[in-house]
Amino acid sequence: MEYISLSDYLKNKYGTKVYKLSLTSGCTCPNRDGTISTGGCIFCSEGGSGDFAAKGMNLAEQICYARELVDKKISSKIPLEERKYIAYFQSFTNTYGDQERLMRLFSEVLSYPEIVGLSIGTRPDCLSDEMIEHLSKLNLEKEVWVELGLQTIHENTSTLINRGYLLQVFEDAYKRLTDAGLKVVVHVILGLPGESKSDIIDTIDYLAKLTPRLFGVKLQLLHILMGTKLADMYQSQPFHIYELDEYCELVCECLRHLPPETVVHRLTGDGPKRLLIAPLWSGNKKVVMNTMREAIKKAHR
Ligand code: SF4
Repeated sequence: MEYISLSDYLKNKYGTKVYKLSLTSGCTCPNRDGTISTGGCIFCSEGGSGDFAAKGMNLAEQICYARELVDKKISSKIPLEERKYIAYFQSFTNTYGDQERLMRLFSEVLSYPEIVGLSIGTRPDCLSDEMIEHLSKLNLEKEVWVELGLQTIHENTSTLINRGYLLQVFEDAYKRLTDAGLKVVVHVILGLPGESKSDIIDTIDYLAKLTPRLFGVKLQLLHILMGTKLADMYQSQPFHIYELDEYCELVCECLRHLPPETVVHRLTGDGPKRLLIAPLWSGNKKVVMNTMREAIKKAHR
């Protein structure tokens, strides 16, 4: 089965492989600091759903550190000056806080010539008009993606996971972002407690019908991580966790329901291994990706 992966999209656009630099904006999250709730989404770990970013460094130091990590994986045949990167602010809610400071930060990161784009993970209820306008201007120079953690369209699941906003809020943000010409990437978690496969496909079908067409989607396996409310829930009332084959089959079904032009940024997700309670098979990335590739190869649209 054919689909557009993020690496295909980037390779087509930039003529080379583009790597993500995981950075931190220093933001917190209204769903954790008491503005919406103190508990956060039940699956969210201490690191705010992004445990790999450099912490306690200024932007230049972070870029340097993140490049060192990423460059280790890049063939030495690609000269340093030809390497391209996307700046990725993943942890917490990266448009929440002092708007002036954040707008300066996003402008500054895009001033690095090797950084060809910016990806900002945030919540749909944390997008001020001024921020959207600023990002829209930056987007004229280098591409800017806004990543929204929708996870599900079902309000009962949203309440269970303490997402803290209604679907209507997502719809409003989607309209404002796309009206401003920004590309939106939606995160969906596969395997949330109480959701059947058909509930998950409902979410995918909803995304497939968005107008204008959704730019990107991240399919993420539900990870149960130590120290989260989800872990307590799982331990007191265990619920179904996908086996690897079952998960791969579900991903293929999701791909079948997505428009072929939607860029698939992720097929599984990688939670921090040291915190992982279940499913343990997800810790073996190589096996997961090989099994997934095989399943997708065999699947038909
Ligand atoms: S919105 Fe993101 S950072 Fe905030 S609690 Fe939920 S997953 Fe964590």
